[in-house]
Amino acid sequence: MSIAKGLIQTVKRAVEMQANTMQIFSRNPRGSSYTSYEKSEIKEFRRVLKENHFGPVLAHAPYTMNLAGSDRVYEFACQVIRDDIIRMEELEIDYLVFHPGSHTGIGTEQGIDRIVAGLNQAITGSEKIMVLLETMSGKGTEIGVSFEELKAIRERVSHPERIGICLDTCHIFSAGYDIVNHLEQVLEEFDQILGLDLLKTIHFNDSMMAFGSRKDRHAVIGEGQIGWEALMAILIHPKLKSLPFYLETPLDDQGHKEEIARIKEDYYSYV
Ligand code: FE
Ligand code: FE
Ligand code: ZN
Repeated sequence: MSIAKGLIQTVKRAVEMQANTMQIFSRNPRGSSYTSYEKSEIKEFRRVLKENHFGPVLAHAPYTMNLAGSDRVYEFACQVIRDDIIRMEELEIDYLVFHPGSHTGIGTEQGIDRIVAGLNQAITGSEKIMVLLETMSGKGTEIGVSFEELKAIRERVSHPERIGICLDTCHIFSAGYDIVNHLEQVLEEFDQILGLDLLKTIHFNDSMMAFGSRKDRHAVIGEGQIGWEALMAILIHPKLKSLPFYLETPLDDQGHKEEIARIKEDYYSYV
């Protein structure tokens, strides 16, 4: 994943890694600054994506954006989500994913109230981009740790048709969804509570932390507590295999290139 600076350069790096989709940050992930793009740059960006047959590009909102936070933090988050929906729509990006937020003491219910209000002031209903809620590990006071919490957000917004889900394999594992031993049941539960049609993207990560630990530390595929077999079972699952998968593993470009090659090699031995 990289900061959306030098868009073309970013796509070219992904092409070089033999990727066929990618995630970018909508702006500086740990701050507020962002780049404005020239029309010509956007055009070239779309051309390179098309030329390389890329799947849907995913934009990730900054970590500093907390819609469940108290006043100042909340106001900043409202502006960021409002602006980034417009900015990413200009790039013709398919999905903008964000961490629902941390309530930092006001409680889950009130936190969800804020998230809903924050989304409502940003989403007009006429945009093409979909805003995705990410499944969270549940560290600290994070909201979005259960499918029920995500549902509570979605069903209360004014334009639920613009809201989908991004499932992070590391996060749901550390949140206590047993994707290693009971993948079918987890998918069944997701389907019953949210509906699998809302699942648009997968953040494909192993986890350094134990099952149910509620800690968020990504590991390289096959080197964590989820393990290679369980992750491949997710990748090839009939209900998931047509979705775009995004690696957020702790590697550099060369490492990602090798990781993608390993995954592809194994993938083609199953299909
Ligand atoms: Fe994330
Ligand atoms: Fe993620
Ligand atoms: Zn994470």
